Amino acid sequence: MTGFVYSESYLNHITGTGHPESPDRLKAIADHVRNSEYWNSLKSIKPNVISTNIIQLIHSGSYINSVSEACENGFPFLDFGDTAICRESYSVAKLAVGGVVQAVDEIFNGNLDNAFCAVRPPGHHAEAESAMGFCLFNNVAIAAKYAQKKYNIEKVLILDWDVHHGNGTQHIFDSDPTVFYLSLHQYPFYPGTGSKNETGTGDGLGATKNFPLSAGSGDKEYMDIFENILPEIVIQYSPSLIILSAGFDAHYRDPIANMNVSEESFSRMTKIVVKLSREVCEGKLISVLEGGYDLNALVSSVEHHLKALQGN
Ligand SMILES: [Zn+2]
Repeated sequence: MTGFVYSESYLNHITGTGHPESPDRLKAIADHVRNSEYWNSLKSIKPNVISTNIIQLIHSGSYINSVSEACENGFPFLDFGDTAICRESYSVAKLAVGGVVQAVDEIFNGNLDNAFCAVRPPGHHAEAESAMGFCLFNNVAIAAKYAQKKYNIEKVLILDWDVHHGNGTQHIFDSDPTVFYLSLHQYPFYPGTGSKNETGTGDGLGATKNFPLSAGSGDKEYMDIFENILPEIVIQYSPSLIILSAGFDAHYRDPIANMNVSEESFSRMTKIVVKLSREVCEGKLISVLEGGYDLNALVSSVEHHLKALQGN
């Protein structure tokens, strides 16, 4: 069974008029999914309220406090103006982490095969010690570390198909051979990282793989990697859990990037990842929303993604 993680509280992170990472994104997804014919076949999951100890698996206490204080004091931005916040943003970001952690628990307790976490704010740009992009806490990095600690698993593979490179996730696990980071992204582009030469450091050398793609790439380039290159990497690494940083901003209609991926390709890409997860880790797969800024494209892509997670 596939889980759908969501909370109305995720709408309380207000980023300001005209900001692409708006509450409307999740509202559009939730309204559509809850009125769909497949809603009853999904398991609705509410996020857990978590303690800061779980966020500290990745972020320092001082960084967490700085986010909390900036929100409490009503500051409009973190990260020198890049990351818009409001008074509620700290508690919403904490609840986003609570959502992915809840998905980890449900999957490892055998209640779910896989899950889609419709959370915000997104996370993959967040570094251990700083907010960046539209990201406060690195949801997928925390989920990986939490799963390793709580369920005593060794290896996790994070696949990031958001159109932007997940600099935060890559850096956090740069020298860690137990978390493989693999990303497809527009390049050169924000945030500037993600060249082919970045393959990990120290013990983690070889556990980072980047597929920088030039602007204008689309279904053909993505499917070529998914069909011909990805399976071997995943099977060879053989993780006990796959986490997907599922941004849908590589869609051809996305207003802030320049790729040409269709929702049909997001479906095919999902099916390949589901199949691989069944081959290597009993289907344990957690998909976590990152970007995606054209509302119609986002809703349609998420629908294709969810149906594929369900095996349809
Ligand atoms: Zn993105």
